[in-house]
Amino acid sequence: MQGSATGTDAPQALPLVIIGAGLAAWTVVRELRKLDAQRRIVMLSSDSADFYAKPTLSNALAQKRSADQLVTTPAAKMAETLQVQLLPHTRVHRLDTPARALSYDDAAGQARSLLYGDLVLATGADPIRLPMAGSAAAQVQSVNHLQDLAGFHQVLGAAPKTVLVIGAGLIGCEFANDLLIGGYGVHVVDPSPRPLALLLPAAAGEQLQEALQGQGVAWHLGTTVQSLDADTSSGRLRASLVDGSHLQVDAVLSAVGLRANTALAGAAGMACERGIVVDAHLQTSAAHVYALGDCAQYASAGARVLPYVMPIMNAAKALAATLAGQPTELVFPLMPVAVKTPALPIVVAAPHPALSGQWTQDAGVDAAAGGVWRFVDAAGQQRGFVLTGQQSSRRMELAKTTLL
Ligand SMILES: Cc1cc2nc3c(=O)[nH]c(=O)nc-3n(C[C@H](O)[C@H](O)[C@H](O)COP(=O)(O)OP(=O)(O)OC[C@H]3O[C@@H](n4cnc5c(N)ncnc54)[C@H](O)[C@@H]3O)c2cc1C
Repeated sequence: MQGSATGTDAPQALPLVIIGAGLAAWTVVRELRKLDAQRRIVMLSSDSADFYAKPTLSNALAQKRSADQLVTTPAAKMAETLQVQLLPHTRVHRLDTPARALSYDDAAGQARSLLYGDLVLATGADPIRLPMAGSAAAQVQSVNHLQDLAGFHQVLGAAPKTVLVIGAGLIGCEFANDLLIGGYGVHVVDPSPRPLALLLPAAAGEQLQEALQGQGVAWHLGTTVQSLDADTSSGRLRASLVDGSHLQVDAVLSAVGLRANTALAGAAGMACERGIVVDAHLQTSAAHVYALGDCAQYASAGARVLPYVMPIMNAAKALAATLAGQPTELVFPLMPVAVKTPALPIVVAAPHPALSGQWTQDAGVDAAAGGVWRFVDAAGQQRGFVLTGQQSSRRMELAKTTLL
């Protein structure tokens, strides 16, 4: 499997190499195996490569599951079933695309290189960390992987505690709701005037704000955290907010967004913007190199990153066909996202941010039964929707009347 960058293998005999072992990587392999049982596949991943559904990170407390219990299939079983040569706990350091080679350190710390016929980058995204002052700034946690969750659960411990969540976007709200279910006190800080401000019309965001407040969330909106210090007298953490207020908490979770992991691709000279730029065939600016998942910026989505499960499922299917010798353009269908906030279930089919139009709320829906909002463009076409509460079961019906 290991070869020198100047090896003599003919390109067609070289393996398909995949960097990453998250949902994007494993789904491409699964789809490819339906079309091609023979191709040699090598997968390298800096983590354990165990298979789990990342969305379960933000409802693990509700499910009473530890990080280990979220693993649905161990890495070795995945590799055996899908006939993959797997190198877990292996970080790729460098790509040399003209030579079709990559370099990494093996388990013994020995520098190795590997030649590829085709390469798939599925390197995911990294949590954005805001700069923060204070003696306890390093104690801020973020949860984007299983190990992060294990560390966070360790900090939470068994005793009831109070957690400060920084960020009222999708992931911040989901964790806030999960922590409430787990019996924790929850503060949420965000500079926006309401939760999910970038995703929802104002009235829907206010419904979520009220629902979570009704279950115990203390909101601190229109402000942000300036510093975090260890309070030596109480043994707790003292968060100072820009609005001048102070909070005593036991743990701080940052959920202020993700940034596509473009490090390898960027250093190798590939075009990267908000993510690794890929065309409609998922091809990067380098020949024989493809990308998908949270690391990719899709031409098929109007040059957007789409860090959600459904885009990965669609992209993996199209890429597998291309890799199996049937060049296939990725065309995304409408992909509504379910927000896992049991206090107020929400389904969002977001319009493209460049579209101009207006949100309108359906009249005649009793507020206690949730709400329906439609995004209507200048030509009068419905281009997105939001469903809350009991109305969230109407996603199929609304999807039928929504134009992409
Ligand atoms: C808390 C949370 C809740 C979510 N909830 C939802 C939801 O409800 N619905 C939804 O649609 N989406 C949700 N998402 C988003 C969804 O889970 C992600 O879009 C998806 O899991 C991303 O998969 P990925 O394979 O692209 O990235 P990842 O799972 O991050 O995988 C990246 C892989 O790349 C490897 N890697 C990176 N760099 C290197 C390197 N140099 N060398 C070797 N390996 C490397 C990593 O080890 C990892 O295996 C949620 C995300 C989070 C964090």
